[in-house]
Amino acid sequence: MRDMPSLFKHAFHITNASLIYMLAIFMLGVISTSSSLSFLGWPLVLICIALKVLFYSGMLASLVEVISSQELVLTFPNLKKNIGHFWKFYFFLSLLPLFVHLVLTEWLSRQAIPMPQTFFILNFLVLYLFAGIVIRQKYLKPLRLPRRQIACTTKDFFALAALLFTSGFLVNIHLIFPQLPSFYFNVASFLYQYLEFFLFVYMSSLMISNYPEIIKAHTAEKELYLVSPLGGAVMEAIGSLFMRVYPPVFVVLKALSPKDYKVRSFNRITWREHYYARDKLVAVTCFTSNSPEAYKIAKEFKRRGSKVIMGGPHVTYHPDEALQFCDSVVIGEAESVWKEIVQDFENNALKGKYTGVPLDDFHSEVHQELLNSPPEIIKDFLETTRGCKFRCHFCTIPSLSGGKTRKKPVPELVELINKIKHKYKVINFIDNNIYSDPAYARELFKALKPLNIKWTTQCTIDIAKNEETLKLAKESGCAAFLFGYEIFGGSLEQQQGGKFALAESYIHFSRKIKDMGIKIKGHFIFGFDSDNFRNIFKLWKFCFDVQPLFTIISLLTPLPGSRLYHDMLQENRITNLNWRSYACHDLVFRHKGMNNFILKKVYPFILYAFFFTTSTAGFILAGLFIGWIIFISR
Ligand code: SF4
Repeated sequence: MRDMPSLFKHAFHITNASLIYMLAIFMLGVISTSSSLSFLGWPLVLICIALKVLFYSGMLASLVEVISSQELVLTFPNLKKNIGHFWKFYFFLSLLPLFVHLVLTEWLSRQAIPMPQTFFILNFLVLYLFAGIVIRQKYLKPLRLPRRQIACTTKDFFALAALLFTSGFLVNIHLIFPQLPSFYFNVASFLYQYLEFFLFVYMSSLMISNYPEIIKAHTAEKELYLVSPLGGAVMEAIGSLFMRVYPPVFVVLKALSPKDYKVRSFNRITWREHYYARDKLVAVTCFTSNSPEAYKIAKEFKRRGSKVIMGGPHVTYHPDEALQFCDSVVIGEAESVWKEIVQDFENNALKGKYTGVPLDDFHSEVHQELLNSPPEIIKDFLETTRGCKFRCHFCTIPSLSGGKTRKKPVPELVELINKIKHKYKVINFIDNNIYSDPAYARELFKALKPLNIKWTTQCTIDIAKNEETLKLAKESGCAAFLFGYEIFGGSLEQQQGGKFALAESYIHFSRKIKDMGIKIKGHFIFGFDSDNFRNIFKLWKFCFDVQPLFTIISLLTPLPGSRLYHDMLQENRITNLNWRSYACHDLVFRHKGMNNFILKKVYPFILYAFFFTTSTAGFILAGLFIGWIIFISR
């Protein structure tokens, strides 16, 4: 990696991986100089500058981690951690060019010499010094390494000089071409920022390449790559920026792997070419809607000589499809087979299919790993039960979990919550239905009471049948339940039985729950066989009566593994087998009573209209939006 072209290419890949953060920093600069926000005055400018300093320090230090192979991916938690460690260094260093600039301006003005635009050179000096500080603090000190001279070749020198020259051109473009529209100045200033980052990465790479001990300390002979790919949908990509839950299966696989494996996680990130590697053990998990991305990643790793194991709900039901892209498939849950897989990998004897059985004790071995994990990972894996007592025909949970509900011992959960409650006052249990076993739920609620936390989870509305349990839930800190109502009271789908048989009591139960002081998030599905366009209004009225905190409407989707999928295949009604469309927002089957074209067009309207007109969050957002429109139109 030491030769100049590969160093350059590597620096280019790493800089590109930080584009989204770079854009955020750039926007802070734009906001602080925006004339339309000038009425907010100096406070806004100061806030933007402070945020910029914080972001820069965290970002640059995180880039050094990637260059050193300590991390492969830039993540927000690492950025936050690095801000805490390095913002002071960056803050004081960035005062340096300001000071030099002021002194120089003063001195030159006395000599009647115009001040040249050399500010950018001082900026690069700051970056150089900051790279040195980060490398020293992070690696040289802990590894007790002596300082060494940077081995800068002539090629490196000319590359750096060319980059500096280009930066000088970009930063002075308004002097060279004063008549250019301001849009071009913004583009030039973004490119300048890109070059700043690139130069920082390049200089840091040069420094680190002098210390092979650093790279060695952060790479292992055996590495396990855990991949949960980002789906192709734009909304999913945007959503993942704000809400990225650490996949529980990552914790499971780490817990069950030998300790000499270094584990690298790739959790719903924009995939970069330089993440691919040779000779690794790679585990890729996916749902149906992101399976095309998972297959692509699996195929590329396999092509490079890594061994790829795929698992998750989708490949459980389509193992042969997945085997076209990977070496092995886990059918079902991984807990019972992962150790065998690692052993077979080490013996170069991987089998094609491994069938995982749902273990009653699915938690003991993983619990210790979880206890040793940071709070942000524990909070994403608070699971009290696995499975569900109902058998809804559109749902994959009954078949995935072996048709039964398994439970974690309550003391294990209390232990985990005690480890994170100083950091998170509101936690979420990731259960499919926390009320799957009422006796267990009561035992859990009693144990949660003294912990003094707030919690949310998914549940079925039959919990409202038992006043005592509901009261216990409230007293234990229950802040909100997410209920899958799916249908409105009066829908013909009630005949299916199961939880749909409760539909006539939905409104009554919802009121009881709200009266208890517990908020409701409501999930509904449109597109059942008995649905028609008139039902939209019935469903709307129903949602309005429930008035949840959030109203979420999905389109009925026959997910592989559900009885619905099986039935629709039999009836030859599935019209679209592009798995990307299986995120519950696309019509993928022929509806019996509604025109498919119209249903497709109407659905987005239902999704947003219901949210804004039936939910508390929607009312608030709509109110804020209207207020803003009135404000700016005055
Ligand atoms: S109640 Fe929810 S989790 Fe249980 S089977 Fe029905 S949809 Fe699935």
